[in-house]
Amino acid sequence: MKLIFLGPPGAGKGTQAAGVGAHLKVPHISTGDMLRAAIKNGTPTGLKAKSYVEGGQLVPDAILIDMVRERLAMPDCENGYLLDGFPRTVEQAVALDGIAAPDAVVNIDVPDERLLARLAGRRVCVKCNGTFNVSKLADESVCPVCGGQMIQRDDDKPETIANRLRVYHEQTAPLIGYYEGQGKLRRIDVEKLPIIDGDSRPEDVFKAILASLE
Ligand code: ADP
Ligand code: ZN
Repeated sequence: MKLIFLGPPGAGKGTQAAGVGAHLKVPHISTGDMLRAAIKNGTPTGLKAKSYVEGGQLVPDAILIDMVRERLAMPDCENGYLLDGFPRTVEQAVALDGIAAPDAVVNIDVPDERLLARLAGRRVCVKCNGTFNVSKLADESVCPVCGGQMIQRDDDKPETIANRLRVYHEQTAPLIGYYEGQGKLRRIDVEKLPIIDGDSRPEDVFKAILASLE
């Protein structure tokens, strides 16, 4: 199964993609995670990408397309993939269709107000990469799963969040129409799921995604 997860920053794509990838036994490939690792390790790709990622701007298409082409050629992608964060522009989508076109595209739709609250409260564990909202943490700086240190991503600062949402609406939202035209789109509207403690529950989103793929 070749799958794409689309959705604005803060939609819960990363969490859902990890769960669905494990369930379907296909590798979960997050281009955001790959870029952050490249930046941390100072690779040539990381050096080129750094200023864009930190400013909440998209990294140029050519860099991403090469990175994803190489990743999809690895043996673990033989039975498919689950791409999270790619494609983010129509140009990237067209390139992917020439490499290994997806079977289905899951779009997780969340209104901007909810996204802003989630992103500003998001913390990431430096050890296990788990993400949690401050509202659910006993101690803001300690990972509830592994005890590692929790930090705020540089691009989760308020100025950068606004930038990322604008970039999403301008450059990535058009992909919804692109894949709808191919008959591959599966829409997940979180506002239609039960709202508990002010938000939808990850397990309900997970079930809705699996149901949409049947
Ligand atoms: P988000 O929470 O915004 O979905 P990601 O972890 O997916 O974050 O991506 C973080 C940053 O990495 C983006 O803001 C962008 O700078 C860069 N990036 C990730 N994927 C792509 C892509 N497909 N094209 C261009 N830039 C990308
Ligand atoms: Zn952890």
